[in-house]
Amino acid sequence: MTAKIIDGKALSATLRVRFRQRVADLSGRGVQPGLAVVLVGDSAASQVYVRNKINACRDCGLASYPQFLPMDTSEKELLDVIERLNQDENVHGILVQLPLPKHIDMRRVLEAIAVDKDVDGFHLYNVGSLVVGNSIFPPCTPYGVQLLLDTTGLDVSGQNVVIVGASNIVGKPMALMLLQREATVTVCHVKTRDLAQHTILADILIVAAGVPNLIGAQLVKRGAIVIDVGINRLPDGRIVGDVDFEAVKERASWITPVPGGVGPMTVTMLIENTLRSAERRIGIGPGIGADGWDAAIQPVNTN
Ligand code: NAD
Repeated sequence: MTAKIIDGKALSATLRVRFRQRVADLSGRGVQPGLAVVLVGDSAASQVYVRNKINACRDCGLASYPQFLPMDTSEKELLDVIERLNQDENVHGILVQLPLPKHIDMRRVLEAIAVDKDVDGFHLYNVGSLVVGNSIFPPCTPYGVQLLLDTTGLDVSGQNVVIVGASNIVGKPMALMLLQREATVTVCHVKTRDLAQHTILADILIVAAGVPNLIGAQLVKRGAIVIDVGINRLPDGRIVGDVDFEAVKERASWITPVPGGVGPMTVTMLIENTLRSAERRIGIGPGIGADGWDAAIQPVNTN
């Protein structure tokens, strides 16, 4: 068996065509959706991520409001910037690029973002909404994974899903989202004894550990759907995921590549959340559906 590829680039491109139409609709009502991106310091990796987000805004017709702050910005100064953005009518989404410098309390900063502009979905209010199943702004990476899964046509209800990685930004929200869809979810992490014992049972295996080649073919059930969230730069400069793609693709039914799988979806879902925020502000858009977060975007089959 050679797995079919779940193409995140293609799905992103399809979604962005729709986004441009939504931007045009908003513009017809006198609204230009806008995203503020706050970066403290000069980390090269963070600069790349921020640039990608600004480019995505441009690509879809949103305004972006970059806020580049020096490394020695105090917590108070950062909170003041956020408060100004909270009040700014042109700003529909606020994203603070993580990680923040050590002298700044990340949680205090994330809690300062207005809940209805929290397009990264990291405010405790939105985290709590995810727990009870009606989040307005699902965190972008798991949200993107959910749409990638939808393209396979498999109903996740009742499926065994194993998630490797339990971070606040990927593994945990992913588990909540799939639980809401009535999957049977197992979350593994660095302290899990005998990882293979869990992964081998997975109908859907989602890996977000940040360890190259963590998942070889022997850990994967034949016919499983494998989603690789990992992004790792090897010493020779190559970018790889956490899954041994070449080996696992001979065992899985569907697989995401790295790059070109989850990565492009993450930034695209940020645009989705920002558009949703702008639409909510003027009382249009699909609103929140019965199962919460997927009302604004229906599954798209790109295959
Ligand atoms: P993190 O370091 O916050 O969390 C990693 C998780 O993996 C932890 O729960 C840890 O216990 C677990 N883990 C680590 N080693 C393990 C092992 N050997 N076996 C089992 N579990 C193990 O990382 P994160 O921020 O969640 O990111 C994870 C990976 O996903 C990274 O490679 C990151 O670059 C990538 N990522 C990609 C996107 C994207 O858009 N594609 C977005 C976010 C993160």
